[in-house]
Amino acid sequence: MKEPIERMKARLPEWLEASRMRAAEGQVAAYIPELAKASRDALGITVMGRGGESASAGDTEMLFTMQSISKVFTLLLAFIDNGEDAVFAKVGMEPTGDDFNSMLKLELVEPGKPFNPLINAGAIAISSLIHGATPAEKTERILRFFRTAAADSSLTFSEKVYRSESATAHRNRSLAYFLKDNEVLGEEIEVEDVLDVYFKHCAVEVNVGHLARMALILAFNGTDPLTGEELVPRRYVQIAKTFMFSCGMYNASGEFAIRAGIPAKSGVSGGILALVPGQYGIGVIGPALGRKGNSVAGVHLLETMSEAFDWSLF
Ligand code: GLN
Repeated sequence: MKEPIERMKARLPEWLEASRMRAAEGQVAAYIPELAKASRDALGITVMGRGGESASAGDTEMLFTMQSISKVFTLLLAFIDNGEDAVFAKVGMEPTGDDFNSMLKLELVEPGKPFNPLINAGAIAISSLIHGATPAEKTERILRFFRTAAADSSLTFSEKVYRSESATAHRNRSLAYFLKDNEVLGEEIEVEDVLDVYFKHCAVEVNVGHLARMALILAFNGTDPLTGEELVPRRYVQIAKTFMFSCGMYNASGEFAIRAGIPAKSGVSGGILALVPGQYGIGVIGPALGRKGNSVAGVHLLETMSEAFDWSLF
């Protein structure tokens, strides 16, 4: 019997083309004007194993911004900087069942406290926890962390996408001011400074290979299997993966858990970072999104592969 990665290489081109057909059911995100320029039919995937061996197909060189995928890694950095209690003082542990930029539940439970760190309100609160004397210093520390995780020192944010989002982010601005009003963002914190850090980490540009490499570290509980180096304590990765499972695909997380059964995080650029614990890191890009903001073709491809290789954790 061939190694799974060899079987993947053989089957991926065919699976990819079948999933690519699904892109027609989706729409490229347009609320950030720069994102609307992406090709709706693009689709690419890289799956990376513990020794760095990989199987790829489709648009693997395409650059795209991480968007909400970045929230998993800022959460990890916030844990490293502040510890578990300080992070959970700002955000809860529950899925919302609402859209990712929703305000609906911000008044429930504790006023202003976002339900979880992966919805926009929660991720903005998390950005405020990253250590650094200035927004530029915080962004630099985030970039350094992302570069280490992706094993690419050239990783940086797209100035264009950052500016495009910042110029049109009325909703995120209102979420952030709401957090400020409720003292989730403390007195010493300038709302625009926090948003600047948030927009920049959302605009970090990657390809699917970067996402696969970053996911591999999560698949191996925070220790890079290629170097043996511990980048993140195991406990923090465990929490991040739990959030990916319960909230990573926004309000379609339940459906994805049933159909694919692996931790994943999507972004509105059409990227998905997924992992098979102890086995693979996966990066996918497919810009056409379904109604709940996930890549239609990307989700289909991951579901196909999960079924073929029996990846569900349950
Ligand atoms: N930067 C995007 C926003 O705040 C991220 C959202 C997403 O990828 N779902 O709207």
